[in-house]
Amino acid sequence: MLTLEYAQLQDKEDSLKRFREEFYIKPNSIYMDGNSLGLLSKRAERTLLESLNDWKEHGIDGWTNGKHPWFFLSEKLGEMIAPLVGAAANEVIVTGSTTVNLHQLVATFYKPEGTRTKILADELTFPSDIYALQSQLRIHGFDPDTHLIRVKSRDGRFIEEEDIIEAMTDEIALIILPTVLYRSGQILDMKRLTAEANRRGILIGFDGCHSIGAIPHSFSEWGVDFAYWCNYKHLNGGPGSVGGLYVNSKHFGTAPGLAGWFGSKKEKQFDMEHYLTPADSAGAYQIGTPHVLSLSPLLGALEIFAEAGIENIRAKSLNINQYLMDLINQDLHDFGFTIGNPIDDIRRGGHVSLEHKEAARICKALKENGVIPDFRAPNIIRLAPVALYTSYTEVWEVVQILKKIMTEKQYEKFKNEREVVA
Ligand SMILES: *Cc1c(COP(=O)(O)O)cnc(C)c1O
Repeated sequence: MLTLEYAQLQDKEDSLKRFREEFYIKPNSIYMDGNSLGLLSKRAERTLLESLNDWKEHGIDGWTNGKHPWFFLSEKLGEMIAPLVGAAANEVIVTGSTTVNLHQLVATFYKPEGTRTKILADELTFPSDIYALQSQLRIHGFDPDTHLIRVKSRDGRFIEEEDIIEAMTDEIALIILPTVLYRSGQILDMKRLTAEANRRGILIGFDGCHSIGAIPHSFSEWGVDFAYWCNYKHLNGGPGSVGGLYVNSKHFGTAPGLAGWFGSKKEKQFDMEHYLTPADSAGAYQIGTPHVLSLSPLLGALEIFAEAGIENIRAKSLNINQYLMDLINQDLHDFGFTIGNPIDDIRRGGHVSLEHKEAARICKALKENGVIPDFRAPNIIRLAPVALYTSYTEVWEVVQILKKIMTEKQYEKFKNEREVVA
């Protein structure tokens, strides 16, 4: 029997509990949406204010002076993120956004040749990735309907690695896959898929939006060619936070498909030549001036990850998500819910994907009760207990609130439609 006392005991023994106090958590509200937009920490607020102060105090000289010199910030943050993706410091750069970085990496690494002209993705991936790939194919004069291959899901939730491997034919030039599927939370076996792609001479890149900061990665060891992600979900970098990209050092020297002066070797950039000398690092894939005020919160946010340790974060994440699933099975089995994420630890990411035909209006009722979930049409309630700031007691409360909503049919007073954002 999973009782409130059990949750309280888990909280007491939680080795990450001290980090909760570092976040702005609203009283009388339970935030279960850290996989969409992570919460503000006091440290992220501090480093943002420090950058503002550098502007105030130094003006233009803030690029090279002050507390966090802006000229080197993207490289510095790359170094801080590198351990979270399993890369060398110079293989990671904080720049652009998820979609822009995907465009850059496809422009750089998609080189259709002979019969190898197609791009392989999957039918459950995030729409922005698909739009980017379709437009990149059009730029090359290919029809996305024939040249973008989307591996089918057998059940609408998951993508089987065997099916992806089978689709790695000699017509494929490039593979783009998510590390974790944004709806079902399934982790793809990146190591296996990368080995299979490498063996066939196909380049492979991953969208890490839903795994960065939630699970450890070993991109370099696995031989992943490149990856890209946003820093505003599990990494708590703030709304519109600057994104990240990884390029395997074996590709250093590959000319950026979309060039710009911030991709220069640092010491050459201000020579102002009309001939680009790219950095010999992932820095080469930057384009223009970074959004400094959307970089600086990450300095504080990432300190927390370094202190907590990604292995510890993953361990708690698995445990607290398991606890949520166990509670759902114990208390909500009569109400028509289905757990739509993988059950095995090695296959599940950082959130629980709860399916229900009334999902949209159940989410509205949850909000009315002070719980912040997120809804993904047509029928998914995503609930993300976050290792750094969600307590077991909160998870227990969320399930009790859900049970009350279902028992009293509180959702019936809302329309079963999504709002503008979710
Ligand atoms: C959140 C997310 C994005 C968002 O892309 P932006 O360019 O940051 O708007 C892209 N892909 C996936 C898988 C996501 O989860």
